[in-house]
Amino acid sequence: MIDGPVVIVGTGQAGFQTAASLRLEGFGGKISMLGDEPGLPYQRPPLSKAFFREGNAERLLFRNRDFFEKNNINFRERCPVRAIDRQKKQVVLDDAATMPYQHLVLATGTRNRNLPIGGTDLKNVMALRTLEDANRIRETARAGQRVVMIGGGFIGLELAGVLNEFGCQVTVIEAESRPMARSVSERISSYFVELHSRNGIAIHCNSMVSRIFGNDRAEGVELADGREIGADLVFICAGVVPNSEIGSEAGLETSNGILVDEMLLTNDPDISAIGDCASFVHRGSGRLVRLESVQNAADQAKCVAKRLAGDPSPYDAVPWFWSDQGGKKLQIAGLTGHAGQLICRGDEENDKLTVFAFENDRFVGVETVGMAANYVVARKILETGRDLTLSDFENSDFDLREVLKKTG
Ligand SMILES: Cc1cc2nc3c(=O)[nH]c(=O)nc-3n(C[C@H](O)[C@H](O)[C@H](O)COP(=O)(O)OP(=O)(O)OC[C@H]3O[C@@H](n4cnc5c(N)ncnc54)[C@H](O)[C@@H]3O)c2cc1C
Repeated sequence: MIDGPVVIVGTGQAGFQTAASLRLEGFGGKISMLGDEPGLPYQRPPLSKAFFREGNAERLLFRNRDFFEKNNINFRERCPVRAIDRQKKQVVLDDAATMPYQHLVLATGTRNRNLPIGGTDLKNVMALRTLEDANRIRETARAGQRVVMIGGGFIGLELAGVLNEFGCQVTVIEAESRPMARSVSERISSYFVELHSRNGIAIHCNSMVSRIFGNDRAEGVELADGREIGADLVFICAGVVPNSEIGSEAGLETSNGILVDEMLLTNDPDISAIGDCASFVHRGSGRLVRLESVQNAADQAKCVAKRLAGDPSPYDAVPWFWSDQGGKKLQIAGLTGHAGQLICRGDEENDKLTVFAFENDRFVGVETVGMAANYVVARKILETGRDLTLSDFENSDFDLREVLKKTG
């Protein structure tokens, strides 16, 4: 338990939640939240979903300005932290001013990966990460425009769906053999390829963009096989890189993010790292992971806040995630990316699908579309921490409620 100042770097999902949870846990010390973006902390998921239609930035805010005043949280916007001085236990701000901490929480998130190809600096080439990006997209996109998305991950496909609905002609270029390949099973990828194609989106897999061409403004993309696709707008949705540099430059260990132990502590016991910027060993699978999800950012923040307020316990929340695409909701419980055995149930024709995922015969999670009850029960099963095998599911005819009963 500490009582001195807690400094939080990054005011996104994880940074905001840390400050709010510290107060909920009764922490009475000084809290500073330092973020480099303008404005109050906001939620990112709607940026590639409802925000394009609604444009209501107020609705994205976690809390209004009063919340920070009432809870005595020193929130500072447009305040990038440049360095950490671990010897003096202080952070260095842009103007070389310093701020001392007893405990430092790094919640610096990720930034979009740029591509090493020509033309990324042309005028109508965009990416989506921040509210500023989303506002720019809303101001620029017009119905009827030809849009090329480079990258068919979650954000690329969500944005593709939204722009298609708005009346743009959307083409998605994906380097892998299927979209969302890193994160979901083949069955879910093919379901969404089918759905988006039906809605009029062209998806090209196994295709690399070699350059974006145009003078001043992008006019299209050229693929590695020489094909050209004309475009009025080009989006780079090629994944992200963790903002771990302020950690590594201060001597913190990193490996695809800032490395933390099961308590979410870095190799410096006075510094925690959480959310999209942090790599940790997932307890269920033993794998080193860095998760990019609201659940992980919020739950890790709560875990750190509890520890700082005197109630420590290791982080072992069950990962879950959702994505809205083409009017359908994908829900995932557990880490299904490495599953070797997949069993599908549902009625795909009617947009109902559950993929049960097993790794070395062990149940690791589900992916669902239109079958929210399965997702909810699967989370409960995973939360029990009990090891279940494929035969447990076969014996219950893949009825998750029956499986859950067995865990009790
Ligand atoms: C368009 C979009 C859609 C998404 N949709 C979903 C979804 O449907 N479901 C889901 O679970 N997740 C979704 N996500 C992911 C989710 O938003 C992130 O996992 C979550 O925001 C991570 O929170 P974080 O606090 O770790 O990082 P962030 O929210 O990225 O916050 C990090 C903050 O730190 C700031 N920062 C970085 N370095 C410094 C520094 N040196 N000094 C000061 N500030 C700094 C950054 O500018 C940023 O403001 C989406 C993300 C995006 C961009």
